[in-house]
Amino acid sequence: MIKDNVAAILRQLPPGVELVAAAKTRTAAEILEAVEAGVKIIGENYVQEAAGVFPAVGRRARWHFIGHLQTNKVKRAVEIFDLVETVDSVALGLEIDRRSAAAGKTMDVLVEVNSGREPQKAGVLPEEAEPLVRALAGLPNLRVLGLMTMGPFEGDPEDSRPYFKETKKVWDELKALAIPGAEMRRLSMGMTNSWRVAVEEGATMVRIGTAVFGPRT
Ligand SMILES: *Cc1c(COP(=O)(O)O)cnc(C)c1O
Repeated sequence: MIKDNVAAILRQLPPGVELVAAAKTRTAAEILEAVEAGVKIIGENYVQEAAGVFPAVGRRARWHFIGHLQTNKVKRAVEIFDLVETVDSVALGLEIDRRSAAAGKTMDVLVEVNSGREPQKAGVLPEEAEPLVRALAGLPNLRVLGLMTMGPFEGDPEDSRPYFKETKKVWDELKALAIPGAEMRRLSMGMTNSWRVAVEEGATMVRIGTAVFGPRT
């Protein structure tokens, strides 16, 4: 079933758009099934949970962190993850830089944009993305590769469109600025209900859980 789900999604994704299989609550066996079906990137929300499934899957896939990263989890995160999609403060960027330096690694990151401007949500406001990208771009052990957004809606995917559009606009503006150390190559937007709209609005990565693994129980 996971195999068929992955095949169906990969068939529908246009060239150049990457699938991140959002794997929170899934077992190592489920993740391995997805990887065998062609998933190249696993997204995890919790460092602890990722550490539990990582030994079974290892480097057969790339690992993206897509949750809220606490400073005290950065050291372990740097060991597992290839890219952190959710950097939203200089403080977090500094800690990732420091821990990456200690591990002899350069960490790829995206800046998370709170495109819905929801006070309780993670991410920087769209107008705060440029100063944060500039600050992160100067850190020697970070490589800023783009932006990520969640958008506020769970319901009608059309309701997400304005938020994807706004994030794409910020991404385009940052790309035009050509800030050294910050290449705008990746734009991570869209989940199970909204990925088609996100792709129409320029996403280069979609994060899909339910449509890959089935409903979370
Ligand atoms: C769970 C999750 C997804 C995927 O959600 P689905 O609706 O199951 O596709 C995408 N992005 C993030 C950050 C998530 O936590």
